[in-house]
Amino acid sequence: MTRDAAIRLDHFMARANAAYYSSRDPFADFITSPEISQMFGELLGAWVAVTWQRMGAPDPFILAEAGPGRGTLMADALRLLSRVAPACYAAARVHMVETSPRLRQAQATALAAHADVVAPVWLDAVPDLPPGPLVFIANEFLDALPIRQFVRTADGWDERMVAGEVFVTRPATDLPASGPPATRDVPEGEVLEICEGALSIARQLGARLSHGDGVALFIDYGYDGPGWGDTLQALCDGRPAWPLARPGMADLTAHVDFAALAIAAREGGCATWGSVTQGAFLSALGLFPRAAQLARNQPGDVARQISEAAQRLAAPDRMGGLFRVMAMTAPDVKEVAGFEGVTPLAPDHAGMGQHRDRAGEG
Ligand code: SAH
Repeated sequence: MTRDAAIRLDHFMARANAAYYSSRDPFADFITSPEISQMFGELLGAWVAVTWQRMGAPDPFILAEAGPGRGTLMADALRLLSRVAPACYAAARVHMVETSPRLRQAQATALAAHADVVAPVWLDAVPDLPPGPLVFIANEFLDALPIRQFVRTADGWDERMVAGEVFVTRPATDLPASGPPATRDVPEGEVLEICEGALSIARQLGARLSHGDGVALFIDYGYDGPGWGDTLQALCDGRPAWPLARPGMADLTAHVDFAALAIAAREGGCATWGSVTQGAFLSALGLFPRAAQLARNQPGDVARQISEAAQRLAAPDRMGGLFRVMAMTAPDVKEVAGFEGVTPLAPDHAGMGQHRDRAGEG
């Protein structure tokens, strides 16, 4: 491998994940919250109904999901809406942001029972969403977007590049000036990660929500507050793998920097809520009463499975603490379900309009 053959990590990751999601069954390698229990999608369905009511019950409205995987979350949410919030169900126009043709097919199958009412359409990217009142959800979407990694040096930054199956470093030429909050504090030798695709989506949605009706909700594995360290990970055949080996055969993810995401969204012009832990969010939406209700009159082993699923989703030392939830809204929104007691952060008007020319989604 010659020096010149080194490529940027985000370019490598974009290609590897595009190949992975279009050719493999990701759910053979990892399990996500909606795949653990129907309760997850149902609670998000209830969240959609409350959010829509508070928006003034617009009919129609865009119910969008980014990176919907097998379509399980949306199918569970729509089933719940059809039963308990029929007006919201009838008003929903479902938009799925998905690049993998294979997963689009799986999602169409999952939504088949609702297709006549919600008329699902598929889009390649978040900016392709049509205008109009918007309720947007993304679970484990941002963690799949390509990152760049920068290494703090004594007098600046290097960028980690991919040369075959190894990392090499090059002096960084364009560390974004408005990088994550941690940018100034990173100790020498440590890695700073930047997900330009996620920041760009946050800015676009922030701008859209600043002057329009809507709420966006992001749920992901991540951290809030200045952070650094290498979080790139690969799962292949259900096991951790070296991220640079066998591109396209492993799922590559990185933890989401919620503080950086929130700053980008507020620069776009919206308010941000949280992040809070997934455990706090789901508990506020009524996870445990719902689990008790589902378990009632079930045989002991089924009841135990339901209770175990609720624990797995909400316990602080499990997904409940490792996953975080953040909402973006118009600046005048007074409350968001699941964020009771959270004070929203106001838009950063000084930042509005900046960065619009920056790179789009990965
Ligand atoms: N939300 C689902 C699936 C998470 S897996 C769940 O919780 O089960 C990540 C999803 O994001 C997959 O559907 C994958 O195909 C999609 N994805 C990855 N990169 C994407 C991109 N750049 N644009 C749109 N979708 C993408």
